[in-house]
Amino acid sequence: METKKAILRFLLSLLVCVWQYGLVCSTKICSRDQSRVVARIVKEKILPAFKEHRVPLASECQFATDRDMYMVHEDNKMMENTGRWACDFCGKAFVSEYFLDAHFGNRHSEHIQSENALCLADVCDVFRCDIVSGASTPDYWDIALCMEDDMKDLFSQCEALVDECIPASVTKNQSRSIKDTVVENVCSFLTCMKFWNTPMQQEESSHMALYIVLTTMTCFGIIIYNFVFYNYFFSDLSLESTYNPPPQKSKKKQTMSPYSESREPPRPRRPPPRPRHQL
Ligand SMILES: [Zn+2]
Repeated sequence: METKKAILRFLLSLLVCVWQYGLVCSTKICSRDQSRVVARIVKEKILPAFKEHRVPLASECQFATDRDMYMVHEDNKMMENTGRWACDFCGKAFVSEYFLDAHFGNRHSEHIQSENALCLADVCDVFRCDIVSGASTPDYWDIALCMEDDMKDLFSQCEALVDECIPASVTKNQSRSIKDTVVENVCSFLTCMKFWNTPMQQEESSHMALYIVLTTMTCFGIIIYNFVFYNYFFSDLSLESTYNPPPQKSKKKQTMSPYSESREPPRPRRPPPRPRHQL
């Protein structure tokens, strides 16, 4: 009888464990960090193309930042300095963004948007969140085992996402212009060649190229100035105007001055030669 009860108790606890595990698994956890990365890319690389044509994102867009479930939390985050992050709801401050995020989740979860909200981290495969954020760096095998077919699938997904975000009411030219810009800024990295690059690295390399060109031109200009203009216009004139060699006569006068004579002892005079006829 006792063994039956123990078995029943064990089975019940096992059922409770399975139910709880299923509940946890079915609960969707949306990464705040990755959502932030997507929001940043959208703000910097995608929205300017839409704003240029004064076109809003379509309502079914999967990366619309105004439907981000953490949007209210992000808007009420204050970074006073790198070591002090404050909650704008209650004023509490934390030493890092990580702890402030945890505080939002524990104390202000009522501000997480639920109706018609999006988890921006869901499009991280296309937006390459881990690479852009620096959380993941490739090793040799990541690059060596990259499959172009997989990249083509991702590229197609990216294009489909962009198409969803362009409203149907825009003209063909506007649609093409917006799509070309967004594909260039986001989707074009979905190849084995560029997958591990970041848009920020691309900017840095273009800045570096500009810096190299400017430095080379400056050096070249300085060389031209020194060897052509300076030598031609200034060297001869400056020599003529500044260098006046003293005349030789004045030198002689200087050696014959009473001061020099007084300093040098007088040389003894030779006796006059005797006349030959006396010998
Ligand atoms: Zn708070």
